[in-house]
Amino acid sequence: MTSAERERYSRQILFAGLGEAGQARLLKAHAAILGCGALGSFQVAALARAGVRRLTIIDRDYVEPANLQRQWLFEESDAAEALPKAVAAERRVARINSGVQARGIVADVTSANIAELLDHTDHDEAIEVILDGTDNFETRYLLNDFALSRRIPWIYGAALGSYGLTMPVLPGRTACLRCVYPNPPAGAQPTCETAGVLNSITAAIAALQTADALKILAGRAECVRPRITTMDVWDGGIRQIEQPPPDPDCPACGARDFVYLKGERSAPAGLCGRNAVQIHERARPLDLERLRAALSPLGEVRANEFALRFFPHPYEMTIFPDGRAIIKGTTDIGVARSLYAKYVGS
Ligand SMILES: [Zn+2]
Repeated sequence: MTSAERERYSRQILFAGLGEAGQARLLKAHAAILGCGALGSFQVAALARAGVRRLTIIDRDYVEPANLQRQWLFEESDAAEALPKAVAAERRVARINSGVQARGIVADVTSANIAELLDHTDHDEAIEVILDGTDNFETRYLLNDFALSRRIPWIYGAALGSYGLTMPVLPGRTACLRCVYPNPPAGAQPTCETAGVLNSITAAIAALQTADALKILAGRAECVRPRITTMDVWDGGIRQIEQPPPDPDCPACGARDFVYLKGERSAPAGLCGRNAVQIHERARPLDLERLRAALSPLGEVRANEFALRFFPHPYEMTIFPDGRAIIKGTTDIGVARSLYAKYVGS
């Protein structure tokens, strides 16, 4: 550790739970953050400030004005540019802590690409913990399968309204997501877009997730308590219950039958209750410059190196270089597909 590092992280080194040995481990550690919204952007900022050397940040979405109320990493200029969150996060981390190597990846995590995204990151060191910053159960069950298959700890977290919960999953030691919740909840769930969310609950849950991640990254995983913590910052209730032990009959951590990882259960095309649909069937890259030239005669096109936006009234299409598109103004997948076919092609 350099003397500058010793000074910068002095308050963590003084903390007995970490000490110089713990800080030295953080300065070599690698964490992945899956989803960089309210939870993820807090986790990224906190881990970067704590000196975690390598951060792999994956998010499929772009910054919008409605994110700024709770997504700590982002600023008005990011929303004005409609920057992908992963790109904005990587840039912001560089300003927060130049000693951290952050890599933002703009991608929708699916069973088809999760191994490619998390097994072969730009960083040499393997991922030691994955923080859940996702907003939907399908991706969490996929993450649970992936993490168990690679024996990587992950920290579940979710928040809605004034309520949230978190639970660590340590393969081989604690119950997994499917031990506790065998199946994703059925039917439409309330979302932050329909029920709202306070920034204090997302920060509180993300802070607990970050603390567990720091224990793991600092080599103090034994300090992670296998508990489910629930919290409501409006009525003030905080509850903790012990996690059940791992279920020997659990299909995921018991039988190691990873149905979500195998893609036998697929993620929906919709976007977590937003008035938007994501099209991601097309798995080949797009030339955004050519597309801009083709669409410009038809109406306003805004493009940067990360995405192109087009506004066929009353919709708004954001098209990414990987061929993915988010179509705002509808929840009808058929409408979204036909817009995509009409303006992008198939
Ligand atoms: Zn299990």
